[in-house]
Parts: sequence; structure tokens; C-alpha cells
Amino acid sequence: MNMSSPERIVYVAGQYCPESEAKVSVFDRGYLFADAIYEVTCVIGGKLVDFDGHMARLARSLKELDMPVPMSDAELLAIHRKLVADNNVDEGLIYMQISRGNADRDFNFPSKDTPPVVVMFTQARPVLESPLAKRGLKVISLPDIRWGRRDIKTVQLLYPSMAKNAANDAGADDAWLVQDGFVTEASSANAYIVTADDKIVTRSLSSDILHGITRAAVLRFAEDAGYALEERSFTIAETLEAKEAFITSATSFVTSVLSIDGHVIGDGAIGPVSRRLREIYLEKAVGARI
Ligand code: PMP
Repeated sequence: MNMSSPERIVYVAGQYCPESEAKVSVFDRGYLFADAIYEVTCVIGGKLVDFDGHMARLARSLKELDMPVPMSDAELLAIHRKLVADNNVDEGLIYMQISRGNADRDFNFPSKDTPPVVVMFTQARPVLESPLAKRGLKVISLPDIRWGRRDIKTVQLLYPSMAKNAANDAGADDAWLVQDGFVTEASSANAYIVTADDKIVTRSLSSDILHGITRAAVLRFAEDAGYALEERSFTIAETLEAKEAFITSATSFVTSVLSIDGHVIGDGAIGPVSRRLREIYLEKAVGARI
């Protein structure tokens, strides 16, 4: 619920309505089985950042879960735009969730003609001048005990939510997750270090991590700008030796990580590589928003 401003208009299963009137069924498989996928698209100046990237990942998530495509990308874009306009969103995000629909509770998937349930809502908030991006993050490391298909963007977010809370309880902003001694990613972002020999290192794509839309763009821009990239696993020990560390996500863009488990990384300030990558991302990806 949005406590500070008037009710938002949200989109639920074909209808636009005030948020207090929006209803989903108790039989929604997203609710009963986390059988739903989602995308979060950043809004800057009322326009959508890298919408095509989010649509491409959405199509992949649907395919991996054998879920029907609910409507065309053009129709989804039209709903995004209407919500931004109706809610006067200048800066923030649009959350879109697609569940496998409503069916009596059963571990088997319902019949193929069960209509997916599409839900969308906006969240207005500062993105460009976010306080955390200006300050840089403190993170803690935690074991990665999520399921094995993190490449599918499902709403099964209980452990990431617990990890974020554990980080906050420890006086930090976020958690970096570690599996078999290597960092996978942050609770809701991809993770990077800049090594002593100036290489940008991030884990390679697999089912161990979400294939970040921002990751793809930032790696492309970094390569164009002449940075050396290495897609490989790295440890917390290597992070402590790194010159810089940072995260990327649709709403944090490129945000520096200043310390991990209480140990300062580099000189403990926002480093030149993450600063420059944020600038390039703002210029190129945010600049190309639609
Ligand atoms: N990893 C995880 C686990 C995430 O939840 C997110 C944010 N959705 C990301 C990475 C970053 O992905 P994107 O750049 O597409 O927002």
C-alpha cells in the first residue's frame, strides 16, 4: 500500500483499477506455488529504460516454465505506458508479474488453456539521485541457499528477502551470496569486482545467477569503452583484495560496494571504474529509454 500519496491505478488481469480495489484469486498459482515470473523496468522522466531487454528475458522465463505468452510485447508496452501516465510517474519503476493463472490447488500444472494472470503496478521513487548510490553500499556475505534455476526470474524471493533483512540487521545494506566458496550475486543485483590489474570481473552466465538486463548492457558498454572484462567466478577473499566492487540492477544501475563483512574494499570510497560505468550507463541506456 502506498501510504504517502493518493491511490495508484494498477493493472490486474485485464482491468485498470484503484489499488484498494485490485483483487487476485486465492487460487492464483503465483500465490500458492510461486508459479509466477516478473520483470522490473526502470522509469526515468516518464520513460522506460531497456524495455526490449526486459521483454526478451520475460519471453525466456515464460519458455523455461512452459507458460503461455499472455499478450504481445506491444500490448505490454501500452499497459506500461498507460500506468506511467495515469500515475504521473516521473522516476521509479514498473513491476510486472505473470502467474500461471487460477486453478484448484494441485502440484500438476493446470490445463494449457488456463489464462495467465498479468499484474502491473508502479512505484515512484528517486532513482537517479538515490541516497545509496551516492554513498555506496556496505554488504555482508551469506550462503546462497536459493533453488537451482536462478536464471528464471520467478517470484520465489523469500531467501533474497531474508538475506536483505539479515544484512539490514547487521547494519549493512545488502548481502552478497556465496556458493561453494564463490560469489554468485547480490540479493537482487549482479556482483562485480575490479582487480588490481584493472579487470572487471563478474560471474559468467549460468543457472546460478539471474541474467541481469543491466549486466548485459554494462558489460557491452564497458567493452566498448576499452575496459578488460573477465566473466568468471571470484571469492570473498579476492573481493577484499580488489580495487573496487559494485553491483548492477535495473533500478540501482551501477552502485559501488564500499565494504564487505566490515572490511573496507580499496580505499573505501566510490571508485573511478564504477563511477565511470554509472555515467556511461546513464548516458547510453537511460539516454535510449522509450
Ligand atoms: N540478480 C538478481 C537475483 C536480481 O533479483 C536482479 C534484479 N532483478 C538482478 C540480478 C539484476 O537484474 P536486472 O539488471 O535485470 O535488474
